[in-house]
Order: sequence, then C-alpha cells, then structure tokens
Amino acid sequence: MLTKMVKDGHVGHALMFTGDEGSGNLPMAAAFAGYILCQNPQEGDRCGTCVACKQVNNLSHPDLHLAFPTVKKKSTDPYSLFAKEFNEAFSKHPYLTLKEWEIESASENKRAILSVVDSGEIIKSLSLKSFSGGHKVMIIWHADKMNVQAANKILKTLEEPTEKTVVILVVENSEEMLPTVVSRTQLVNCGKVSDEEIESWLVEKHGVSAEVARDAARAADGNYNLAEHLANGDGSDADEFLSHLMEWMRACVKADAGKALQVTQKIAGYKRDKQQYFLEYCLEFLHRSILYKHVGPDESRFDSKTFEFGSKFAPYIVDADLNGFHDVFSKGHYLVSRNANPQLLFIKMSLDMMKLFHTHPKNSNA
Ligand SMILES: [Zn+2]
Repeated sequence: MLTKMVKDGHVGHALMFTGDEGSGNLPMAAAFAGYILCQNPQEGDRCGTCVACKQVNNLSHPDLHLAFPTVKKKSTDPYSLFAKEFNEAFSKHPYLTLKEWEIESASENKRAILSVVDSGEIIKSLSLKSFSGGHKVMIIWHADKMNVQAANKILKTLEEPTEKTVVILVVENSEEMLPTVVSRTQLVNCGKVSDEEIESWLVEKHGVSAEVARDAARAADGNYNLAEHLANGDGSDADEFLSHLMEWMRACVKADAGKALQVTQKIAGYKRDKQQYFLEYCLEFLHRSILYKHVGPDESRFDSKTFEFGSKFAPYIVDADLNGFHDVFSKGHYLVSRNANPQLLFIKMSLDMMKLFHTHPKNSNA
C-alpha cells in the first residue's frame, strides 16, 4: 500500500503511523522514508544499493530527519543534542521502546517529552532546502509525547508544509494526540507482528532454536521487542517476577501479613522503574487470566512456566473481583510514578488484596 502510494504520487504531507509497542511502527516509518528517498526504487522495496539508500542505512541522509522525545536536563535542550545517541540506539534496536530509550538517555525517574523547543527545531529542519533536490522526510518518533504547546506549534507546518515535504508522526495511540493534529494526517495502522514472522526472524537473526522462538513469540503476542528479549534470555526478570507474584498472592489468600511483608519488601527494594515493570507484569498476568477464563486456555498466551500457576489462579481471580485486583495494581503503578513511599504502598496493596480475597472466600489451591 505504501509503495503504491509513492508510485502513484499520492503521498500526503503528513502521515501518522500507529502501532503498539514492538509493532515496528518506527522501522516501518524509516523503511517508508527510505523508499521515498531511494534513487532507484523497485517493485515493493527500495533498491538498497544507491547512494541515498546507503545514507539512509546509516541514518546520514541529509534529507532524512529524525525527531524523538528526550529527558530534558534543561528545558531549553532540543532533541538534536541527543541525535548521536539516538541513532546508535535505533541502529542497534530498531524496535526499541520509549522506556528503554529513557533509561539509556538519562535517569530512571524522568519521562522523555517533546517540548515546544523541539517543535521549533523540527520546523527549522523542515525549512531547509532539500539537499538532493527531491523529498525531505521528517520522522517524529512518539509524537504522542508532544505536549499541547509543542503540538500546536507544528500544526501550521502540517497544514501548509513546504513543497516536497513529508512528515511522519509515529505514535502508539492516536487517541492521545490532539484531534486537530490527527485530522491533518493520513493514518497508517502498523498492526501486530504475526507469531510466524516473529519466529522466523528470531531464528534467522538471533540463531535461537525453533522451540525457543515459538515460546517467545507466543508470550510476546505481536511485540517483537519483547520477543527478542525473551529469546535472548533477558527474561530473568520474568522468572523473578513470577515467583514474587506467586508468593505475594498466596500470602494474601492466606491473609499471612508476615509473608506478604517479606515478599513486598523485596519488591519495594527495587529501583522505581523496576517496581513499575513488576506491576505491569501483574497487570499483564491479569489480562492473560481474563483471556484464559473467557476465551480459552490456548488464547491466554501464558508461557510454559506461567501456565501451571496461571491455569489454577486465573479462574479464581477473574471470578473473585477482577475490577478490584485491576484497581490495586493500576493504582499502585500510578502511585509508584508519583514517588509514593514504596514500603507503605506495597503494604497497603497487600491489605487491599487480603480484603478482596476475604470478601470472596471461594478459595483456590493455587
Ligand atoms: Zn536506493
């Protein structure tokens, strides 16, 4: 669809590539930019060998611009200060997540944003003449991290761009964007990566066995970044998280405050971002439990290690008080981000869950 758009001369001035984490919306945007800039585009793909393609490969093409959120040390710092680091990170991991980039680029507590200073920088880059005489392409990664002032500032550029300019906004969720921005773009949904594609890429690029690849693809559910981590054995956190979650839930079912304290102290001892990962893991577990109960065991995507605990616990937790548990984990996640005292927070969460289990005492053996 995208290559045909270029061939027919129907590329709009502004496009929005949407897709969940690990869906590859950024590599897809980069590939599309490469196709637009290629001097000898082929049927369905760029040639890969012309000067432009080589420059695109190492992100040095003068008409390819890449903007991205950064963790600001000073509010006047533009994203371009971090261009070298970002290009390296992207070249190494085209499917990188915002969180990985935040951790790589600065401290654990600060979030990356695109500010009004960044918008100014974007507009400045786009006002330059095209070096090659052809198109200029600006990719804005995680445009959903633009604040309102930043978004308003680039509106005019999206409305009345200079000639032969293509702006690609790469976002996870178009609903987080200002409607005035969305309405000025052509939407391209990048969807999920299929299990089969993930499996074959893992075998091809990481040399893992077909079995490891299958397990990783299954657990990752269309998120190629996650699948890479799992296949490469970076899932050590997952093992630890699962054992903490099991211990914690069992302590709460039995209303064993001492045991609950023991395990939550370990979690509270994590750095803040890891506490958040853990709570995201809990929410993901809940999500899979719903699928297990209501769609079927095969659709739950519990991996082999989680399956035993999950299959016993899922029906119970879903019947008991799904909303209650969801609230506990998501509120916890929010409060961690607001710098709540983790010791106290996790004790409170334990007590809330004990109450939920007590109100719904249809006990399970899990
Ligand atoms: Zn080419």
